[in-house]
Amino acid sequence: KPRLLEDEDGGVVFLSSSFSSSSSGYGFASIEKQRQRLPVYKYRTAILYLVESHGTTIVVGETGSGKTTQIPQFLKEAGWADGGRVIACTQPRRLAVQAVASRVAEEMGVKLGEEVGYTIRFEDISNSDLTRIKFLTDGVLLREMMDDPLLSKYSVIMVDEAHERSISTDILLGLLKKIQKRRPELRLVISSATIEAKSMSNFFLSSKRRRALEGEELRPSLEPAILSVEGRGFNVQIHYVEEPVKDYVQAIVSTVLLIHDKEPPGDILVFLTGQDDIDAAIKLLTEEARGNGKTSSGLIILPLYSGLTRAEQDLVFSPTPKGKRKVVISTNIAETSLTLEGIVYVVDSGFSKQRFYNPITDIENLVVAPISKASAKQRAGRAGRIRPGKCYRLYTEEYYLNEMSVQGIPEIQRSNLVSCVIQLKALGIDNILGFDWPASPSPESMIRALEILYSLGVLDDDAKLTSPVGFQVAEIPLEPMVAKMIISSNELGCSDEIITIASVLSIQSIWFSIRGAQKELDEAKLRFAAAEGDHVTFLNIYKGFLQSGKSSKWCHKNFINYHAMKKVMEIREQLKRIALRLGIVLKSCETDMQLVRKVIVAGFFANACRLEAYSHSGMYKTIRGSQEVYIHPSSVLFRVNPKCVIYHSLVSTDRQYMRNVISIEPSWLTDVAPHFYQQQRQNPNIH
Ligand code: ADP
Ligand code: MG
Repeated sequence: KPRLLEDEDGGVVFLSSSFSSSSSGYGFASIEKQRQRLPVYKYRTAILYLVESHGTTIVVGETGSGKTTQIPQFLKEAGWADGGRVIACTQPRRLAVQAVASRVAEEMGVKLGEEVGYTIRFEDISNSDLTRIKFLTDGVLLREMMDDPLLSKYSVIMVDEAHERSISTDILLGLLKKIQKRRPELRLVISSATIEAKSMSNFFLSSKRRRALEGEELRPSLEPAILSVEGRGFNVQIHYVEEPVKDYVQAIVSTVLLIHDKEPPGDILVFLTGQDDIDAAIKLLTEEARGNGKTSSGLIILPLYSGLTRAEQDLVFSPTPKGKRKVVISTNIAETSLTLEGIVYVVDSGFSKQRFYNPITDIENLVVAPISKASAKQRAGRAGRIRPGKCYRLYTEEYYLNEMSVQGIPEIQRSNLVSCVIQLKALGIDNILGFDWPASPSPESMIRALEILYSLGVLDDDAKLTSPVGFQVAEIPLEPMVAKMIISSNELGCSDEIITIASVLSIQSIWFSIRGAQKELDEAKLRFAAAEGDHVTFLNIYKGFLQSGKSSKWCHKNFINYHAMKKVMEIREQLKRIALRLGIVLKSCETDMQLVRKVIVAGFFANACRLEAYSHSGMYKTIRGSQEVYIHPSSVLFRVNPKCVIYHSLVSTDRQYMRNVISIEPSWLTDVAPHFYQQQRQNPNIH
């Protein structure tokens, strides 16, 4: 694990793995005391009373007040998990599910996976007989509904982080409202860090109840209860930059060093956007801190983003040793999902990575975009948990006051709806536009999704799931395009290869990027690079990994992330099991990569692009929407620029970049997706 090493003389202290003592040193009594000190503790009786007497209880409270870790325990102590029933608590983020579940298991003094468990996609650490409190992503709970539409084993479902308005949270809220009509004994707790409680409460009032409220008297239990947990946040002094910053990574590094130099002890939490800029900031901070050893000794620099291993997560949560200062550089996961102890200073870049979808061009990508005022306030609040703190905003006050939007847009209004539509269809919701949404998605996005699902053969002329393809696609817990690819691989006899590819595509990256070793990484890539593109390259790597006896040494030598490869193996096993259940026989096409490419087209035809003939800069245009895109530098096809390619996803920085790219023959497109491409005959992009 070469990412963090002890460095005695360099000034900056890195963490060796021996440091990773988790917080498990506390005795039972001490944990009990910690629990009692949390703001929600005072509301224990009130919360239990409201849950008992109301179908839906909305709990609003500051991050760190104990909503996530305490309320499920209160409910269990009050008997809501007796008689084999289960208390569920959903989170939008996988990492938060793992972190919170292990914290609660620790507080209760039980083994994770028994009384307290968790489930995220491809990882089920729960036990159907023993688990009484179960943490899970909202997406996984939606999947559970396919087998158990009324979620009958749960007595209380706590939908946590509702203010985030993730796409799965919104779908879940709409469906839970329906379930409640059939199962009045089911209790919902909606918890949120911001006061959007009134609109949430209105959502849970049915129109009949709303009418009743206006006219006759109403039993109190029909109206959702709202409880506001008074926090005990300390004052946070806000600092703004005077001029807009040009390079926020550089600005962050300077600000952190300034704080470390001038301010009294206390940890620093930095908000950046994603793994790439977090890694860049850590590299720069490490270099600059080493450069002025006097001031920066005692800095412990740690990343926090979703791809971290368990050991790396533990480092972030472990207490800062005396005389040291921890700097955690995080995505917006630390905004409300996770509480870090000891933070006194916050540095806010003003940006986060957000998903944006344009139904006109049918392009969805991840964009680094400005955050909302609501987020900025949350971020600042992280500095005032233990004592008065300071927040350094890397934008001007004028910008904050006059230009920053008040609230973010719910994800459902800026996403591709293909997955959402197929899930609702699988749950028997036919009229999707008429579904009871907390916020309605745009009709254009809906129509686009229906059109693609029709072309994939998932929906029929009446917009119903086709049998068997539609039902099979819905059954596979992956994006519908990947699921369709797996199903097509069965007919063409290359399911073995396609399942490997699907497993690799479902994790962030299998490469190990060591800062400052780009050249070595590129050379390692060349050893596996396939002329066809990234997907076939993955197959080469997988083969090499197997031949090495799944050796970590081999991974290290080839700049491949061993943990990621182990994860790929796990996902592959699970996909194999799901495939078997769907009647897909594992079969290899040996060396026939043309077959593999054709199957990829069967799933991803909508993402086809053609190289602009006159372009020397490697410019492609999407065949469907004529949008300008480029091959991402991390692809093995970067600078190779085949005539016609298909991409897996887009990321947008200065340009739109295609990640995971494979070359194809244009004629395959009309073969597999005639409806999608033939109406485009007049389109000059396809010949
Ligand atoms: P909320 O959901 O209201 O934001 P949480 O229940 O997540 O609050 O956190 C309550 C407290 O529990 C935090 O202030 C923190 O002290 C502690 N805590 C939560 N998770 C962890 C963890 N993984 N390690 C150590 N302490 C934690
Ligand atoms: Mg929480």
